[in-house]
Amino acid sequence: MSEYEKMNEYEKMYESFTENEIDRIVQLKRFFERIDGDKAFREAVINNAITPAQEERLRSIGVTFDLPEVAFLWEAADKAYAYMIAMLKNRADQLDAEILEIVDRYPLLKLWGRHLEKVCSCPCKYDSIPDSHNKKFAAWRKRRIAAVKSELGAFGYQISHAVFAFELSDGCSVGCWFCSFAAKKLKGFLDYNTRRDYFRRIVQHCVDLFGKDQAVMALPYYCSEPHDNPSYIDFIKDYEELTGAVLCTSTAVGDDISWVRQLLDYYKKGPYPWPRLSVLSVEMLDKIHDAFSPRELQYIQLLMQMKEHPRQKVAGGRILKEIEGLRGEQDLKNREELNVPQGSIACVSGFRINLVSKTIELFSPCFTSKKWPYGYRVFDEAVYNDEHDFPEVVQAMIERSMFLSPPLDKPLRFRDDTVFRPTEEGFDLLTPSQRHYFKSRETCGPLGELIAAGESTYAQITGQLVKKNGVNPIVLRAAIQKLFDDGFIDEVY
Ligand code: SF4
Repeated sequence: MSEYEKMNEYEKMYESFTENEIDRIVQLKRFFERIDGDKAFREAVINNAITPAQEERLRSIGVTFDLPEVAFLWEAADKAYAYMIAMLKNRADQLDAEILEIVDRYPLLKLWGRHLEKVCSCPCKYDSIPDSHNKKFAAWRKRRIAAVKSELGAFGYQISHAVFAFELSDGCSVGCWFCSFAAKKLKGFLDYNTRRDYFRRIVQHCVDLFGKDQAVMALPYYCSEPHDNPSYIDFIKDYEELTGAVLCTSTAVGDDISWVRQLLDYYKKGPYPWPRLSVLSVEMLDKIHDAFSPRELQYIQLLMQMKEHPRQKVAGGRILKEIEGLRGEQDLKNREELNVPQGSIACVSGFRINLVSKTIELFSPCFTSKKWPYGYRVFDEAVYNDEHDFPEVVQAMIERSMFLSPPLDKPLRFRDDTVFRPTEEGFDLLTPSQRHYFKSRETCGPLGELIAAGESTYAQITGQLVKKNGVNPIVLRAAIQKLFDDGFIDEVY
């Protein structure tokens, strides 16, 4: 194996840059983090009014390039921004002469653009995991992925659809004002000294039930904060030993410097882009920048979560409000003007397992609504006693809630985010982010109306359409199966 082949995808991102260029990239990254997280500094940059004290502060946190090298930010901000977006979307070929002229004048901008291009082409390992050997689960997860793409639009294509979320504590001690999952107060955590074997057995059961390749797709937290479990890192090391998977970490306690150092230490073997740090205040940002050099955080994303930050938060959980997508009567002729907000921050299509409260939820992302305030649908819930009955309880959930075809005795309805519109040719389904067209009057028309009414079972609908409307039963079955496989049918029974 060549040296290049031995690298992981994150290392490969930097392979085409010299050491000197990487040194400049990490400084730029830090400079942009200041702009992103520190409003006063952001305004100073926009107005070309950076004070000597701010300049000194930059130097003290390792940003040592001369500020005129980034003058594109106040002299040609629009063009520089357009350039960065184009590079991030891999559309360098669409840049016009005016933008190229700016890029030529600023080597740092060009370097940052090359870096963004690499970031966007970094392959997402989640795209290619094989299906689980458990056929019912594999089919269910495929339907959930299709439904999420339909419902959440562009955002739906970026979701990893992890299979498991293991919570190692019950509740959360941080209490972020924006928590989309409205995490409850911390009640307790899983003690590594006494519960290590139990944890390992639960993980092993998941591997046995669904396959080792599925266990790679897991989060060791969900509606919980990794930092709340003092042995978090020991648990994820055990997980790696059992499954070979290095799990991700996202934490809102980035100001516990020694904890972040331990995490960086664990992940540097990749390298991996973990831990991701949710930065709750400028003070926290300062603390992180003071403690770590730009190079130490080369792979690490700092996600600014300050109250005054302009990025729109998903309005779920603690800040729930009904978000309008396409569901209303918005004018579809002007779809490109429709600005559909991000509908969810959920990212698991599978099992949420709280190892402290011993509860399991079968869930998958959806558009946040009053009905689904956390941005995910819950398809099933269960409680287990210990590692001994865990597999049976999960197996029962599979039998109860995962089908290969729509069950004959359950109501046949469309997903609850959709709006049904009969048309001349058949019908349309409007989701919060897009419109789907079903054009076959003969099958789609009456079938769509009966499913949209939501009052009949699969067996009743089939009986009615075959007997009263004379629809070919084979064609009908295929049409219903297609709607089911494509994730349009409601599966919350
Ligand atoms: S966002 Fe995360 S850290 Fe913050 S309250 Fe919710 S679960 Fe806890």
